[in-house]
Amino acid sequence: MGLLEGKKLLVTGVLVDTSIAFHVARLAQQEGAEVVLTAPGRQTRLTSVVARRLPTPAPVVELDVTSADDLTALAERVGEHVDHLDGVVHSIGFAPQSVMGGNFLSGQWEDVATAVHISAYSLKALAVAAQPLLAPGSSVVGLTFDARYAWPVYDWMGVAKAAFESTARYLARDLGPQGVRVNLVAAGPVRTTAATHIPGFEQMEGGWSERAPLGWDSADPEPTARAVCALLSDWFPATTAEVVHVDGGVHAMGQ
Ligand code: NAD
Repeated sequence: MGLLEGKKLLVTGVLVDTSIAFHVARLAQQEGAEVVLTAPGRQTRLTSVVARRLPTPAPVVELDVTSADDLTALAERVGEHVDHLDGVVHSIGFAPQSVMGGNFLSGQWEDVATAVHISAYSLKALAVAAQPLLAPGSSVVGLTFDARYAWPVYDWMGVAKAAFESTARYLARDLGPQGVRVNLVAAGPVRTTAATHIPGFEQMEGGWSERAPLGWDSADPEPTARAVCALLSDWFPATTAEVVHVDGGVHAMGQ
């Protein structure tokens, strides 16, 4: 029996087949889950093409996390494909380049607000929008980049990730009584569209594999996707508000 046998999952964030979410969806299906994807309006067609490359082609529903209409309609749209959800994956991040790449001091609020809206507040917005479908025992999992540190070039996206991690703790507090867990995976650098959109991403990536006791391959999203699937499963029944580091061990090293 697969790790996620019979689970019905909503997976956001599949843009192309390098997206971390693509590999989450792929592994989840291989482990027995039924998957529904979401994509923001302008990307729905691309995601629909990519969705056909999954082991089982998955339906795509429209969701821009900044759209109140999309959020209001989400449960109904997803409900056309599944009668409930056992898990939701938040794999969404965006910040304008003007607030990354060494532009911390010159960052303007409008652009910072966009980063926080799409990359942090959206976790709450997504969870609440999906709430009517969430069964007791279900799991919400998001992706972060360890926000305890000031990284090179990450700038306001790092601040948005700190807000995201805090949002996950408050969500865990408020959804726990309904039996819903909320956890994050703090991944090391993975070469995706979002990552290469960060000006100077190679400075964040640089030396990671040397610092990691287990080594690290930034071309391989699978270790991260596996951890997301594990947290979606029934094998973390008493774990919530947790951050699981999938970074080869870098988070615990002294330099
Ligand atoms: P990606 O570019 O493949 O995925 C980012 C996704 O965000 C895209 O699918 C895009 O459609 C979605 N998105 C952007 N704006 C949106 C909006 N308004 N509404 C709905 N969706 C929107 O890149 P990825 O690296 O797979 O990113 C997934 C998550 O993993 C992000 O939260 C990212 O910060 C996180 N993460 C990535 C890395 C890395 O090095 N790649 C490391 C740690 C954490």
